[in-house]
Amino acid sequence: MSLDSYKYNNAKAAQRTRRLLVLGASGSIGQSSLAFLERHKETAAVEVVGISVHSSLDFVRKYLSSQNPRPSCVSITNPQYKADVQSLQSEFSNVHFYLGESALLDMMEEAHQRGADTVLVAIVGAAGIQATLKAIELGMKVALANKESLVTAGPAIQKALELSFQKPLGEQALLLPVDSEHNSVFRLLYGLKSETVQKIILSASGGPFRDLEPEKLAEVRKEEVLQHPNWSMGAKITVDSAGMVNKGLELIEAHYLFSYAYDSLDAWIHRDSLVHALLKLSDSSYLFHASHTDMAFPIAHVLFFPEPVPTEPVPATSPLEWKPLAFQEVSTERYPGFYLCLEAGKIGGTAPTVLNAANEFAVAAFLRDQIHFTQIVRLIRLVLDKARIEKTVELEAFLEADRQARSIAKSCLASLA
Ligand code: NAD
Ligand code: MG
Repeated sequence: MSLDSYKYNNAKAAQRTRRLLVLGASGSIGQSSLAFLERHKETAAVEVVGISVHSSLDFVRKYLSSQNPRPSCVSITNPQYKADVQSLQSEFSNVHFYLGESALLDMMEEAHQRGADTVLVAIVGAAGIQATLKAIELGMKVALANKESLVTAGPAIQKALELSFQKPLGEQALLLPVDSEHNSVFRLLYGLKSETVQKIILSASGGPFRDLEPEKLAEVRKEEVLQHPNWSMGAKITVDSAGMVNKGLELIEAHYLFSYAYDSLDAWIHRDSLVHALLKLSDSSYLFHASHTDMAFPIAHVLFFPEPVPTEPVPATSPLEWKPLAFQEVSTERYPGFYLCLEAGKIGGTAPTVLNAANEFAVAAFLRDQIHFTQIVRLIRLVLDKARIEKTVELEAFLEADRQARSIAKSCLASLA
């Protein structure tokens, strides 16, 4: 898929969100989005018609109780909550509850038939892939926060988009990035010819260990890893950010979103996270997009797109108050995980799938106190070296590579010293 076809088709298919499904509603992005919509009820005029969570039943109860009108459907993907869901069902009798593995896709299908036009995919991890693909297949506006969808199955998503672009205009999908850096790139690229852009550069805070001597990284504690200096996010992405694996995943995400080769993609450390992305143009001048650190900016942008966001999504600070802007290269010694992602991205095929699955497995093991922080990257390296890499665009092949990588990761866990 070329960048121009992505931009052109997105421009044609663009429509403002009216009826929204929020998948991963109980998470950091899900809740920021719902809070943004609550604050801007008048101007946004978006009806939240459905939400999904994995296990957060308390969140569901609280959210449904606070809403009038209520969303008409709720999907709970963890199948072990049958009895709790029955009790929710009797409490909220006019809400349709879906439970278990097929819950998300069934809810999306039926909500779309009843007029849902937009899906915010704010699920964490590769668990978001099928929902992303389903939303594209249904021709919906897809507000994509779930970067792991693209990292795990980028070519399958590109293929689904290409198929969608062959449909009549009203049935075409629209894919808009919510990830702040990619949202900035999208805004910057929008009016430009692709040959004008020499390089896309994503900014990175450098995480909590940007000033720590690399040899001390092996001793960092979980509480320190979970203290991000600039952003408040879910646990998995916070761990990813501490070693800049998150930024590596984001380069892969950018590769599949904007169709630029890895030589034209880079990341720079920018400690204050005010500039989110830069474009180096063919004359070596730069364009960049900046705002203070709050996900409400990209969330509002995608929900209003193609119309301008009419108001501040959150009280905004001015550059007059900002610190001077400064950028640094990414150290290979301090951030080996970032370079490992780049390596897997360049190999392509199922290599990013394997990398992502190994990372998800390793981060979960780290959060359960089974491994140290630096063992996350060691485990990913071991799995990448052992897994069979395949060139493919087929979803099933990516899902199989994901399963195999998790199983290899499990067997490697004991050998980590
Ligand atoms: P989170 O952990 O706070 O929330 C995750 C959500 O996904 C929850 O609602 C949870 O119920 C749901 N979920 C978890 N496992 C699931 C499964 N197996 N099936 C279905 N649903 C499941 O995560 P987050 O920080 O909001 O991040 C969500 C996504 O957005 C991630 O892909 C992340 O990389 C991306 N993102 C987040 C931020 C941020 O500021 N938090 C910024 C940019 C991109
Ligand atoms: Mg990001």
